[in-house]
Order: sequence, then structure tokens, then C-alpha cells
Amino acid sequence: MADCIFCKIGNKEIPSTVVYEDDDFLAFRDINPVAPTHVLLIPKKHYSSLLDLSEDDADLMGRMMTLVPKIVKQLGIDEGFRVVINTGAKGGQTVFHLHIHLLGGRVFNWPPG
Ligand code: AMP
Repeated sequence: MADCIFCKIGNKEIPSTVVYEDDDFLAFRDINPVAPTHVLLIPKKHYSSLLDLSEDDADLMGRMMTLVPKIVKQLGIDEGFRVVINTGAKGGQTVFHLHIHLLGGRVFNWPPG
């Protein structure tokens, strides 16, 4: 997608702090972290959101999920972390290219307690 910021990060038109990369995925530091460690994991292929997925994407998405333990171990947050996928404007999504937030360390107070 020509005007998608995460497509541009994925193809290196826009710089980012990369923590993991392979042919299909990129993980990079969030520019506005809300936790001590805040990384975004994206597929290089453009999907606007989770709602774009169909059965044909099961293999790619399965591989994306299996990268999570690898990346959080590399980041040193495997003792405790959160995985967030905001979906739709009413779900807090601001960049319309599917991404997984990996949040480690002290994060927002949810669930409260
Ligand atoms: P969301 O609100 O779930 O769509 O998350 C989008 C995230 O992308 C936010 O946490 C932003 O801080 C982050 N973000 C936006 N632009 C950049 C960028 N150029 N580099 C790194 N992170 C970005």
C-alpha cells in the first residue's frame, strides 16, 4: 500500500529501530512507548487489521504468533509481557496495518488491581 507507514517501515523507506527481521516479518521499537519495552511486530504483507484475515492467512499468522516467544526472549521480557492487537478506530487502532504490540515491564493498570 503506497501510503501506509508500516509498509514503508517494512520496506525500509522509513527508518525504524529493528529488533527482528525475516522475509515476511519485521519487529521494531514503538516510537511512542507506553511500557519500558514496547515493540511492534508486523507482517510485511499489508493487512489493514485483524478483520482482513481469512483462512488463507492461517499459515502466515501462525508463524507470526510463533515469533512472539522468540522476540520476547531476545528482548528479555519473557518473565511477563502483554500482547495487544488494537482493531478498528473504536478499538484504539491508529495505524491501519496489522500489528502486534509486545509490551514488557510495568504497563497500564489493566485489569485493575
Ligand atoms: P495502534 O494505535 O494500535 O494502531 O498502534 C500504532 C502504534 O504505532 C502506536 O503505538 C504508535 O506510537 C506507533 N507508531 C506510529 N508511527 C511509528 C513509527 N514511525 N515508528 C514506530 N512506531 C510508530
